[in-house]
Amino acid sequence: MTITIVEAAAWLTDLEVETVRTDAVQAFLKQETIFVSVTTDDGNTGIGYSYTIGTGGSSVLAMVRDHLLPRLVGADATLVEQVWRDLFASTRATTVGAITSLALAAVDTALWDLRCKRAGEPLWRLAGGFRQAVPLYDTEGGWLHLSAGELVRGALASQAAGWPGVKLKVGKPRLEEDVERLRAVREAVGPGLDIMVDANQSMTCAEARRRAAALEPLGLSWFEEPLPADDVAGHEALARSTTIPVAVGESMYSVSQFREYLQRGAAAIVQADVARVGGITPWLKIAHLAEAFNVDVCPHFLMELHVSLVAAIPNGRYVEHIPQLRAITRSQMRIEDGHAVAPDAPGLGIDWDFDAIDDRRVA
Ligand code: MG
Repeated sequence: MTITIVEAAAWLTDLEVETVRTDAVQAFLKQETIFVSVTTDDGNTGIGYSYTIGTGGSSVLAMVRDHLLPRLVGADATLVEQVWRDLFASTRATTVGAITSLALAAVDTALWDLRCKRAGEPLWRLAGGFRQAVPLYDTEGGWLHLSAGELVRGALASQAAGWPGVKLKVGKPRLEEDVERLRAVREAVGPGLDIMVDANQSMTCAEARRRAAALEPLGLSWFEEPLPADDVAGHEALARSTTIPVAVGESMYSVSQFREYLQRGAAAIVQADVARVGGITPWLKIAHLAEAFNVDVCPHFLMELHVSLVAAIPNGRYVEHIPQLRAITRSQMRIEDGHAVAPDAPGLGIDWDFDAIDDRRVA
């Protein structure tokens, strides 16, 4: 049965950051949140969203409004693959690219919200349905500006709360400082807590190999974005030279980029970000592709949406804890025994507070 899209709208809402967040190359300034609303002739409405951490939000909104929404009205909302492909093809001059992928994601997540609501099913079941509760690790206690003492206190608090892992930023000017900070945390928490590190693309291959060798005795679970995301050969060389699993994906914008990393053995953990890859439709393809390579998926940020996607797939290992939607939602993500629990409500399962969203609307 054809379900026709009769109305589509988009807007931009700025969210203040919940805490100071810094890494080796940047600070998270504000969350520019691009919303899309799609209404169909059977009276249902889907809400999707996408984001940036401080720049480009107005460009994403313009791409959605000027080029995607006009093609949506009149389309069959149940043909999600067809709509995605049509929008992708219609933006040929700027595809693949960050702005276009973020724009596609805002539309695609709205179509998935609609699909789930019409089916009366939560996203985690309709997208695959593997397990409702997924392990959660904390990033909020590991920012680069924090002192070693603050890192230790953060990791101990996460451990006491029953969480299985924490992530710490690395990339201090001197290798010794990274090692001292991580050693202090490892000594405090003992061997029973997963510790991940994240360099945010700040290193050369030679420097990453030097740092990885120094960090190996600390039993790290992964080394995230050691190099610029377009340096596949560098990641491949690093992966061959260290026992620490190399994690990449938060700065990649298409399925084919993941295919190349996986084919070359350059990624041991895949961190596809549902907004940056163009939505749930391509995200699931990346997750299944990774499964075929026996690689786990630990997506970047957006925990409120990724909890349902990690719960949908068999190779989802972790959700990253960075709460950022609390100001514009009426309920929070459920956390039980160090696990994030995917919501049962039909749709994406995010309980938006539309008054709070409107209050922060900038375009
Ligand atoms: Mg990262």
